[in-house]
Amino acid sequence: MTSPVSHWFHALSPDGTMPAPRPRLDGDRRVDVCIVGGGYTGLWTAYELRRTHPEIEVLVVEREVCGFGASGRNGGWVQGALAGDAATWVARGGHDGARRMDAAIRATVAEIGRVVETEGIDCGFHVGGTLTVARSGVELDRLRAQAEAARTAGPWDDDRALLSPDELAGRVRIPGATGALFDPDCARVQPAALARGLAEAVERAGATIVEGTEVTAIEPIRGTVPAVARTQHGDVSARWVVRCVEGYTPELPGEARTLAPITSSMIVTEPLDAERWAAIGWDDAETILDAGPLYHYLQRTPDDRIAIGGRGVPYRFGSRTDREGDVPASTVATLWDGLLRLFGPVLDDVGIDDAWHGVLGVPRDWTPFVAADDTTGLASAGGYVGEGVAASNLAGRTLRDLLVGRHSSDLAALPWVLPLGGRPPRWEPEPLRFAGIRGVYGLLGLGQEIERRTGRPSRVTALADRIAGH
Ligand SMILES: Cc1cc2nc3c(=O)[nH]c(=O)nc-3n(C[C@H](O)[C@H](O)[C@H](O)COP(=O)(O)OP(=O)(O)OC[C@H]3O[C@@H](n4cnc5c(N)ncnc54)[C@H](O)[C@@H]3O)c2cc1C
Repeated sequence: MTSPVSHWFHALSPDGTMPAPRPRLDGDRRVDVCIVGGGYTGLWTAYELRRTHPEIEVLVVEREVCGFGASGRNGGWVQGALAGDAATWVARGGHDGARRMDAAIRATVAEIGRVVETEGIDCGFHVGGTLTVARSGVELDRLRAQAEAARTAGPWDDDRALLSPDELAGRVRIPGATGALFDPDCARVQPAALARGLAEAVERAGATIVEGTEVTAIEPIRGTVPAVARTQHGDVSARWVVRCVEGYTPELPGEARTLAPITSSMIVTEPLDAERWAAIGWDDAETILDAGPLYHYLQRTPDDRIAIGGRGVPYRFGSRTDREGDVPASTVATLWDGLLRLFGPVLDDVGIDDAWHGVLGVPRDWTPFVAADDTTGLASAGGYVGEGVAASNLAGRTLRDLLVGRHSSDLAALPWVLPLGGRPPRWEPEPLRFAGIRGVYGLLGLGQEIERRTGRPSRVTALADRIAGH
């Protein structure tokens, strides 16, 4: 039942295997833009560059197949929100910058819907909004306080509505729920279908994709020698080399402390029958977040199952990524338990069809970034902390503007663009990094236990939330 391939890929192929890779790089190449990594960030960047500047030669270099990483494994929330709390965004861009950032990411949900329709990408894209569901008085109080703080302290307009239990039940019936926050700016998508469809759109737009080709080093411009991405099958020289490998970033030379790879795991049920769906409701396929500190996230899939995700073994010593391993039975049990606690007996006798995990990238300040430096010829984007499905599209459009020199565009002026030559703050060396990250996740679990036992908000949860930028 647990497998190295996500349900999303299984659902795309009749025999449930990963697609065969496209041809490898075949010798040295010289292009205008070399994109390293064929997930959403790399693919959106390639798509946007070619869509608006068809004269630019773009080559995407992917180690496995496009969508192999988090882009083909995620929860399928196309969320009009970014990681990083309001204070961090205000510190980066002032109130005005934070507002522009928020408006840009919210508008991105519709932008992805537009491209999906224009390009005919069949990926179950549906805008139903998102519900953050409280199941205790403590959780409801916390949601209410968050909504109130967002409304009064800004920096951006907050159009989330607090739903009563009855109003929630009109959308989804979750026994024992005490209320929910509803945010309209979110869509549900089949993640691998989006990644694979987008890769085809990139090729139609005229970019080349090579797969099964690992970039082993990225080097900046040296004098008159352009930037280069080195592989075992040839070197790619380019005006720009764009690093889009998110959770795999620490595997590249010199990047061990740029992003920490965090594992998130998911399970999916077998398809539910019409009777169970009649009992649950959920007709508008809103994405759902369990407001407990462990942040279980759910979607009703286009093929009428429930997918739920949450932390697995969150972080491995030395930023090791376990790319193809099985999901531990204890993680599967925790996720199933999370599902049962939300929906209860209506799921009796329902089986789990698949379990998988993926790796996402977390920067030291838990806030995503876009970077491009003319003098080195190097660019990158990522650090989405598990909120990268919509953000990667915005990053792709932002990178396009920076790479073609549109430095005064609205996108290039967003506060997630690092100053020229800037890098995201670096993580501590081991063992401090291990202790810090495991510590945050330990605190979140402990906070949940305290809240369950006492029925009161836990300071431990508040502390972990603050560190993790929730
Ligand atoms: C289980 C899970 C659930 C998630 N749920 C959500 C969600 O519901 N909503 C949301 O917004 N975000 C979610 N995320 C996060 C989101 O999936 C990511 O932020 C997003 O997919 C990142 O895209 P990317 O292209 O930057 O990275 P990736 O999709 O990881 O792509 C990187 C690519 O680079 C390739 N690569 C790596 N190293 C090399 C190399 N050396 N040379 C060449 N290629 C290389 C990899 O094979 C991979 O294909 C989730 C993540 C996970 C793991």
